[in-house]
Amino acid sequence: MPYTAPTDEHLHLLRNVLGYDRISSTEKFEDAGDDMIAAILSEAGKMAQDVLAPLQRPGDLEPAHLENGVVRTAPGFHDGYKAIAEGGWVGAAADPEHGGMGLPLTITTLVGEMMASACLSLSLNPLMTQGQIEALEAHGSDAIKALYLPKLISGEWTGTMNLTEPQAGSDVGALRSKAVDNGDGTFAISGQKIYISWGDHDFGGNVCHLVLARLPDGVPGTKGISLFIVPKFIPDADGNLGEANSLRVVSLEHKLGLHGSPTAVMEFDGATGWMVGPPHGGMAAMFTMMNNARLGVGTEGLGVAEAAYQKALEFALERKQGKTPVDGGTGTIADHADVRRMLLTMKAQTAVARAIILDTAISTDLFNATQDASFKARAAFLTPIAKAFGTDTGSEVADLGIQVHGGMGFVEETGAAQFSRDVRVTRIYEGTNGIQAMDLVGRKLMDGGDAAFAMLDEIAATAKGNEALAKAETTLRETTKALLASDINARFAGATSFLRAFAITLGGHYLTRGADTENRRALNAFYTAHFLPQVDALCAAATAGDALLYALDTDALAG
Ligand SMILES: Cc1cc2nc3c(=O)[nH]c(=O)nc-3n(C[C@H](O)[C@H](O)[C@H](O)COP(=O)(O)OP(=O)(O)OC[C@H]3O[C@@H](n4cnc5c(N)ncnc54)[C@H](O)[C@@H]3O)c2cc1C
Repeated sequence: MPYTAPTDEHLHLLRNVLGYDRISSTEKFEDAGDDMIAAILSEAGKMAQDVLAPLQRPGDLEPAHLENGVVRTAPGFHDGYKAIAEGGWVGAAADPEHGGMGLPLTITTLVGEMMASACLSLSLNPLMTQGQIEALEAHGSDAIKALYLPKLISGEWTGTMNLTEPQAGSDVGALRSKAVDNGDGTFAISGQKIYISWGDHDFGGNVCHLVLARLPDGVPGTKGISLFIVPKFIPDADGNLGEANSLRVVSLEHKLGLHGSPTAVMEFDGATGWMVGPPHGGMAAMFTMMNNARLGVGTEGLGVAEAAYQKALEFALERKQGKTPVDGGTGTIADHADVRRMLLTMKAQTAVARAIILDTAISTDLFNATQDASFKARAAFLTPIAKAFGTDTGSEVADLGIQVHGGMGFVEETGAAQFSRDVRVTRIYEGTNGIQAMDLVGRKLMDGGDAAFAMLDEIAATAKGNEALAKAETTLRETTKALLASDINARFAGATSFLRAFAITLGGHYLTRGADTENRRALNAFYTAHFLPQVDALCAAATAGDALLYALDTDALAG
């Protein structure tokens, strides 16, 4: 599937909108200057275009499958994975002490976007490993770091994340997997985990599972959960693979999309594991991984949105239907007003999702480089928006992509439908988008709204002289105050609308800041007319309270 890396757009955002130079002027990231990042983005773009994009269709047509208990991956995936690993992309953000490139998250996020555009199902593999690397860097013992990190960073071994169980989905605290101390520094891990992405593969090396389980004295709920690293093959101290551990893939799920990614039911039967972080401190450790993964999953949505837009635009500029309403136009459906509306919606929304995601990454990098807590709070506030709006955008843009194609969008061979099927799960996994919205109005407003109001102050500064943006900002500020004064279930009732209103207003802020050419001003004018007015309606819904939602009892729902 042809794909062109949007390198110019990436550099525009970094240079002209989001102030990337704030990162490269810190001591920590002084090597990641403008020339270097341009070279890195160009290199990663080439790999995405030339090596990964051709794997997109085969991954859908010949899904990963289980053969006599062994996972067989889609054709070409092993070579594609080798290219990712050999390019150093798995550990690009990791600490150089263990072989990583130490690049800012901002840059590796853009690399992740390009890989997701090219082949989402394969790109999920390094995403999982990257989360594991970050969790081990932050919480692993020195021995675990020395043994696992070099192999994960080089891509020789891969990582997975094992939270979900049949009765414990969004409610991770309900998990039943057990860990028993073997008395020799290891633990015996038993239980069933479901939906484990890239739970196994035939790329060679080791598959390292980060598993949440409860020690015998672990209290019920999330406070009693511990984290363990449980490798498929038990390595010796030098990292040579030894005997197979007591774990297996029971089955792979048949899914709506993302067929190239094996989604495994895993059985751990007294498997040998090593604790990561303190006893009962598993959720805190896992949160490190989940924050990275939330941004990464938002980026998956962004990547698919970009690819779906490129595909739809290419089609629209070839397909002829009806009399062209534009003098001197292309004579294709791209001249029709409604098709233009769809294309501009796709382009604008993708640009906004990218800016939100990158701004989140930039705040994370600035916190890591400076330890200034205000950047941490900013990143924490933006993360649920980046995840939910990024993945909603992936889904909505891919859906519009089908519509632009007309009947051909419903026919698999164009690839438009695959984008929509593949990206759908990103709104579900890594905390459903509903849970993200609840996080935004719950935990992320627990500071009394400080982080939210700081963000709104930034928007207000941009909005000077921009009436529509100023109006959206004022409405959103009032809505934030109203939610802060509401009880928690009323907040939850308005959470999804509030998150979207925030994302759309942020979009006006970024597009206004970046409107430095005639084309960018035109895109911003479209956004101002078509998106910003939605903020009013969304804010009204956000503050409508919860009583309306319960006015129909469950019998009435069925009636
Ligand atoms: C393809 C795929 C890959 C996955 N990969 C992994 C993986 O690698 N590792 C892993 O551990 N898991 C993985 N998952 C699991 C995924 O994270 C869960 O599916 C997700 O967290 C939702 O849990 P659930 O499916 O049990 O849905 P449920 O939790 O049952 O949710 C059902 C609905 O109820 C809503 N809901 C639930 N609780 C609340 C609440 N308190 N308030 C409001 N609404 C609520 C949800 O938003 C959702 O709309 C994967 C799933 C899929 C489909």
